[in-house]
Amino acid sequence: MDYIANEHRYETMDYRRCGRSGILLPAISLGLWHNFGNITPFGQQQQILRTAFDCGITHFDLANNYGPPYGEAERNFGIHMDRDWRPYRDQLIISTKAGYDMWPGPYGDHGSRKYLIASLDQSLKRMHLDYVDIFYHHRPDPDTPLEETCRALDQIVRSGKALYVGISNYQPEQAREAIRILRDLGTPCLIHQPSYSLLNRWIEQGLTDVLREEQVGCICFAPLQNGMLTGKYLHGLPADSRVAHDPRYLKPERALNEEILAKVAALNGIAQARGQKLSQMALQWVLRDPVVTSALIGASKPEQIIENVEAVHGAPFTREELDRIDAIVGK
Ligand code: NDP
Repeated sequence: MDYIANEHRYETMDYRRCGRSGILLPAISLGLWHNFGNITPFGQQQQILRTAFDCGITHFDLANNYGPPYGEAERNFGIHMDRDWRPYRDQLIISTKAGYDMWPGPYGDHGSRKYLIASLDQSLKRMHLDYVDIFYHHRPDPDTPLEETCRALDQIVRSGKALYVGISNYQPEQAREAIRILRDLGTPCLIHQPSYSLLNRWIEQGLTDVLREEQVGCICFAPLQNGMLTGKYLHGLPADSRVAHDPRYLKPERALNEEILAKVAALNGIAQARGQKLSQMALQWVLRDPVVTSALIGASKPEQIIENVEAVHGAPFTREELDRIDAIVGK
């Protein structure tokens, strides 16, 4: 059936300015790393995307190697694009990335101009798009001069294949340098995409200061720590969880680690006292600092999105709640 978007979709989502730019991003964005490869039924993927947009999520995040197999999430997204999203293209921010291994040989990985430009051309073909809104260098490459990587990003914007560029997984000083080079080239860095969650606070050690000073946006990936911060592993291993159905990255020994589970249980107590789900509190927590533009979640079911977007309506944290959270997870 043809998709017609919920006409009230913009009424409940919070849109936050991305650094010093003209772009607003939804407080909650959707990533297609998991659940869009060849192991997830197409109809389920479609429902996840439709539900997200119906909830006001205007940003879908991909990468060349999302699958499985590599490229499959973009390939599937191309079909979704043709079926559902063409009429809404101008209401969407679609991103992709290159930086990890994608094809064999010396030109399908890392940060060379050769790799980045060829990879984006392939991504556009798979996704049936003329351009992406944001193209990222997916991880820093210690062996390619940063100038070469940044010049490739600048060329990509000038060629019209991306409207904006970003960096991902860069450490604070690498990020500052990339931001400076890109600014000098005349293509400002729109956004940084680091990991960040209640169980992973590394960006507070310098990166958020850099992004604040440089007025660059920040979209945090895995804010639910791959699902661990939903509390779903507190009572064993659910059959429909990521660990059970796609344990490529999140292994049982990590999800069921007793020390982590004790922290999750304590956090869950705070969320319950606040009258919200742990997932909602975890998302609201990463968004508590305005330097964070958006929390980039994954979802295996539409209901998870409906639950998670409620995070934007949570009561503000009290000082006491934040102190209790710090005491549980450490600073
Ligand atoms: P999350 O931490 O948001 O974990 C998402 C998973 O948690 C879902 O797939 C689902 O897994 C579970 N979940 C979500 N909501 C709920 C809920 N309400 N109740 C129960 N379970 C829930 O993020 P991801 O690890 O998926 O990463 C998100 C995105 O970040 C990626 O898609 C990608 O776009 C980006 N990313 C970027 C990286 C980079 O290097 N730049 C690296 C990694 C991710 P399930 O139901 O299967 O258990």
